[in-house]
Amino acid sequence: MMPEAVLQQAAAEMLDWHGSGMGVMEMSHRGKEFGEILARAEGDLRRLLHVPEQFHILFMQGGGLGENAIVPLNLSRGGTVDFVVTGSWSVKSHKEAQRYCDARIAASNAEGGHLSLPDPAGWQLSDGASYVHLCSNETINGIEFQELPDLKALGSSAPLVIDFSSHVASRPVDWSRVGLAFGGAQKNLGPAGLTLVVVRDELLGHALDICPSAFNYRTVADNQSMYNTPPTWGIYVAGLTFQWLLAQKEGELTGVEAMARRNAAKAKLLYDAIDGSSFYSNRVDVGCRSRMNVPFFLADDSRNADFLEGARAAGLLQLKGHKSVGGMRASIYNAMPLEGVQALVAYMREFERLHA
Ligand code: PMP
Repeated sequence: MMPEAVLQQAAAEMLDWHGSGMGVMEMSHRGKEFGEILARAEGDLRRLLHVPEQFHILFMQGGGLGENAIVPLNLSRGGTVDFVVTGSWSVKSHKEAQRYCDARIAASNAEGGHLSLPDPAGWQLSDGASYVHLCSNETINGIEFQELPDLKALGSSAPLVIDFSSHVASRPVDWSRVGLAFGGAQKNLGPAGLTLVVVRDELLGHALDICPSAFNYRTVADNQSMYNTPPTWGIYVAGLTFQWLLAQKEGELTGVEAMARRNAAKAKLLYDAIDGSSFYSNRVDVGCRSRMNVPFFLADDSRNADFLEGARAAGLLQLKGHKSVGGMRASIYNAMPLEGVQALVAYMREFERLHA
């Protein structure tokens, strides 16, 4: 779900951006108008996520799966990389990286069926690893790191790489623990096609020779994300979303801190409803349940189709679980208001009353 105000503004400006006589899709990416859009988007994102100065913000293409190759091409130096495997997306990241480096598994929750996070104290971190990769919110499995690990405290000097595709801008990021964060825009920021990379300056300039120039972080940074034509429409819509996020308020909080409070309240409402019923269940460890993606199951699988049909009729869309997990999955991204979750919970209670 996208913020309606953002979609309305993008629609209103579709044919003529700020009296320029052209829409954003029609602009030269090197013109003054798009330059303004890009600079504002970058500045707003830096403010929103409190990105420190020593990090570059890169607007790229290739998506999360593209980054699974682009990160090792830039950061691995062909050496050892440690992966913390916690669900479908980190499984994919590890597999892809094997093509470029010695990609090891430092910890995995696969045995328990991706339902809990392996305790960092037990991670088998390699000496001299180029970096440690984890997925900070596993979209399909509904597992989220509530806190990023402090690798230094675990005895590793490797930088931490996080795939934050599906919870970017839903909560603050502790940049002191991060070397690089990447994410596709299509969950919380805007349209598919834009990939956000936030990377520490010292990690640039070590790409393998085979790294495509357009995917070399040093080249992208040196050219202010304009080495090749950037995804201009995606950057523009993400920029509108950053403005919307900066203006959000919850009590005394604003911006991403306000979103974190709202998202926690939304998730609590839904998990409480699931846990309080014997008709619905969620199997993820309570300490690492995702605030964005909530998989749940009906006690009676044969009712799944009825549940989805009734939900659709009530205006509750896209609740079908991922095929690898089954059941249902509610994606309650930033733009989903508390009222949306209340409507889902009310529908779930009514469905249970009729069918339990
Ligand atoms: N990582 C995560 C955490 C994701 O949720 C997704 C997409 N759902 C991806 C990677 C893959 O992203 P893309 O489809 O943009 O390549």
